[in-house]
Amino acid sequence: MVWFRRDLRVHDNTALDEAAKRSTDGLVALWVVSPAEWRAHDDAPAKVDFWLRNLRALAAELAARNIPLRVVAVEKASEVPAAVLREARACGCDAVHWNREYEVDEARRDARVTQTCEAEGVTVRSYDDRVAVPPEDVSTEQGGKYTVFTPFRRRWYKALAQRGFALRPAPPVQPPVAVESTPVPARVEGFASPLADALWPAGEAYAQARLAHFADATLAHYHTQRDLPALDGTSALSPYLAAGVLSVRQCLAAAAARNEGFVDVGASGPVTWVSELAWRDFYQHVMVAFPWVCKGRAFKADTEAVAWRRDPDGFARWCEGRTGYPLVDAAMRQLVATGWMHNRLRMVTAMFLSKDLLVDWREGERFFMRHLVDGDLGANNGGWPWSASTGTDAQPYFRVFNPSSQSRRYDSDGAFIRRFVPELATVSLAALHEPERITAEVRRLTGYAPRVVDHDAARVRAIEAFKGLARGA
Ligand SMILES: Cc1cc2nc3c(=O)[nH]c(=O)nc-3n(C[C@H](O)[C@H](O)[C@H](O)COP(=O)(O)OP(=O)(O)OC[C@H]3O[C@@H](n4cnc5c(N)ncnc54)[C@H](O)[C@@H]3O)c2cc1C
Repeated sequence: MVWFRRDLRVHDNTALDEAAKRSTDGLVALWVVSPAEWRAHDDAPAKVDFWLRNLRALAAELAARNIPLRVVAVEKASEVPAAVLREARACGCDAVHWNREYEVDEARRDARVTQTCEAEGVTVRSYDDRVAVPPEDVSTEQGGKYTVFTPFRRRWYKALAQRGFALRPAPPVQPPVAVESTPVPARVEGFASPLADALWPAGEAYAQARLAHFADATLAHYHTQRDLPALDGTSALSPYLAAGVLSVRQCLAAAAARNEGFVDVGASGPVTWVSELAWRDFYQHVMVAFPWVCKGRAFKADTEAVAWRRDPDGFARWCEGRTGYPLVDAAMRQLVATGWMHNRLRMVTAMFLSKDLLVDWREGERFFMRHLVDGDLGANNGGWPWSASTGTDAQPYFRVFNPSSQSRRYDSDGAFIRRFVPELATVSLAALHEPERITAEVRRLTGYAPRVVDHDAARVRAIEAFKGLARGA
């Protein structure tokens, strides 16, 4: 039996390929519907819906290979071990294969499933598949774990060169088994997506086509365009990587194929993109090495003492895209409208909440998770403390992005802002970048919000809040 989780594909799926190699009398696939666990992890309705749509596409791929998909539902996460064992037995499987998940709760759940299955004579085999290089393969000379990205990446390249990223084929048609497939539910209560399916089409074939299009049309310019949110300068493949509809090795292979086989040297576009994939691995490794980050605790323990402000009104305005800073507002509206936000803007908005508003970064992390189609604990929990200066390899606390300079630099003609904040369509470019220039009369006519804080004063306040820690105050 292959237990699918966030690896919703038949191509280059380690657990599926290994199970197929070991089995002579057919395969069964399993998916567990676990809404209580999803709620506890703030999984966005749009993301759960994306999982289900991809699961339906996967079920068809599996059926074409004689692999029935069993879908079982549990009320509580604690019921998962018994449910997996029950299905394995009912389907006559003597082994369960899965790809490893690195979050603390998921790793503990898997340890319990292993214990339960093995106590009853059902073998468990798990594989590193989600990352290009397994966490155990990247250590410092002293055997420690990296907390800074650049030296991590150096070691990661070496480990990747040793390991390679050969792609595994989809399994061939299997001998038929006497097990009925269970239909994939159209929806799960409490997770109705507010987004149109067409925004994030499902299925491996679509994801592959999108990867190929990106690699052919955009990758060569990635290093110069990736910071410009008005352009399609990045891959927007994160939902497919997060749900495992694509593997990271498939992405590496696509980059290498456009760079004479190299991933670490050569053309700047592919090399820069691979470096982003290394960030993805970095944050998965961080969760394994420093598991407390999965439990809402800051990596830098002293930053737990920051006097975050309670500001329900400011937080609500940030969530709704009404801070009065056009770039921040456009970004937050992009998140809510599409379930995705450009990377540059994730940094801008995260820094705005945690520095300008001095609101606890965990509130923003949760809001992101509740809306992102690509929500991923490792990447989200890595990105937030990076911006809030509380994490591994974080920005120094005195670095506070200026929304006006970010706006001028990365949305110079205001095209992105005007797309998501249409009420500012006719406002001058200078005022889009420097909202203090938007007059009261224009605000009255457009309904656009006044600035929630004055950036210069807020910046000083944030630095003071952190400086206190540095002095031990
Ligand atoms: C505050 C904050 C929160 C974030 N939350 C998430 C999240 O929940 N899920 C998520 O997948 N990414 C997250 N990121 C990272 C990054 O913003 C997105 O991966 C990226 O914007 C996705 O767009 P793309 O697919 O076009 O990326 P591309 O630029 O095309 O990059 C390719 C892939 O590399 C990975 N990647 C790129 N940048 C990063 C990064 N900084 N950290 C980790 N992986 C990266 C993603 O899988 C991405 O799809 C967050 C970043 C910040 C600053």
